[in-house]
Amino acid sequence: MKTMTCEQLGGACNKEFKANSFEEIAEMSKIHGMEMFQIGDKEHLKAMDKMQEIMKTPENMKAWFENKRQEFEALPEDK
Ligand SMILES: [Zn+2]
Repeated sequence: MKTMTCEQLGGACNKEFKANSFEEIAEMSKIHGMEMFQIGDKEHLKAMDKMQEIMKTPENMKAWFENKRQEFEALPEDK
């Protein structure tokens, strides 16, 4: 089990996600992002704008994703 925050995953707050795989944690952060989008949280909307800029270019998106995956892999396991 590893922990990453919303902010580390391209979001805007300190909410922690715990998962065994990067796919899992990315999914959790996505769901949280959609919730924040629905309530119109300004900071998350700003963060999402930035993500959408990155996602316009598939190569950038891939690079971002790989970067975050490596960050996740490099984390120590939760105790
Ligand atoms: Zn958040």
